[in-house]
Amino acid sequence: MSEIKFPIYLDHHATTPLDPRVLDEMMPYLTEKFGNASSLDHPFGYEASVAVESARDKIAKAIGARHDEIIFTSGATESNNLALIGTMEKYKDKGDHLITCVTEHKAVLDTARHLESLGKKITYLPVNEYGEINLEQLEDSIKEKTVMISIMTANNEIGTIADVEKIGNIAHDHDVFFHTDAAQAVGHIPMNVEKMNIDLMSFSAHKMYGPKGIGALYVRGVKPRIKPNPILHGGGQERNIRSGTLNVPGIVGFGRAIELSQHEMKAENNRFHKWSVEMFESFFNAGGKQNGHPTKRLEHNLNVYFKGIESKSIINSISKEIAISAGSACTTQIVEPSHVLLSLGFAEERAHSSLRIGIGRNNTHAEIQYVTENIISCVKKLEKITL
Ligand SMILES: *Cc1c(COP(=O)(O)O)cnc(C)c1O
Repeated sequence: MSEIKFPIYLDHHATTPLDPRVLDEMMPYLTEKFGNASSLDHPFGYEASVAVESARDKIAKAIGARHDEIIFTSGATESNNLALIGTMEKYKDKGDHLITCVTEHKAVLDTARHLESLGKKITYLPVNEYGEINLEQLEDSIKEKTVMISIMTANNEIGTIADVEKIGNIAHDHDVFFHTDAAQAVGHIPMNVEKMNIDLMSFSAHKMYGPKGIGALYVRGVKPRIKPNPILHGGGQERNIRSGTLNVPGIVGFGRAIELSQHEMKAENNRFHKWSVEMFESFFNAGGKQNGHPTKRLEHNLNVYFKGIESKSIINSISKEIAISAGSACTTQIVEPSHVLLSLGFAEERAHSSLRIGIGRNNTHAEIQYVTENIISCVKKLEKITL
């Protein structure tokens, strides 16, 4: 059995493959168990509803939440929209100010821009060279009219992990809600909404080996009890917070995926830690520099800068065999440099010469070694051309 499977997929921040164990669990709900989870008058609906509630339990348990604090959505993009728009609208009597940060995913940044167009006031906190906000600056930016702080848990490009617990503490000291986009964190690092003082949290199944098109918003039920206004109107599913017929197979898969991630997280992170350290060391020796925080980072993320080497040239020359990314998938249609790398204070050149690698569950050590060698030999070749 070959230890290398071509093409080698190393873009797990964009999406992850569906774990076959997740598909097995979903299969009956894609076929004979097709009921609508709201049709409680007959066994078809009832069995779908039981499956949904069992998945909801697993998801709640994995993040230290209560069953009824999980609202199913179509993914983290929708969860972010619901959290920001729904909460700012619902609590408009309290104020009109939202605090977020410049390195957020577009699903937060563009939602914040939309809120600005509706007259809300937004503070975009800057970050240091590692992608961290300054907590004193965060506290100083809280005003009388501040309703919410939204800061992501782990960055999807550079892997930097924020001090979520402290941010939540600051928010609560000032009676401000705390939302976090944890799409890259849930399933990868331990998350606990109680311990971390989180009031609203967005996450998504396809970032943790589950299916695409299903995600959740955690919405705190007590101390404080929050209820964002809906952004989708209709049948009143999900406690009137998110209407629409539930995606039963997706939800069942999401439940299984998060359960598996809790079992495998520790072993996977140990493995990914060894591999990413090894990869970084080889890249350093070839002149590469790390983007993101040296230690407070996702173990499966590498973001590396090779001075003077366009990342697109590397990607183009290895793309038949190796799938990696120049930035985030959501912006790869646009040739704009990464807003995250620019926010770290780097010039456009660095943003155009950086690669993002996301290691995943099915990768092998042989693949990591193969990719490392190939990237380095590619860099060396390109260096010769540019000299
Ligand atoms: C992938 C991602 C999203 C978008 O999630 P979808 O489920 O694809 O809508 C939002 N935020 C972050 C940080 C992500 O990595």
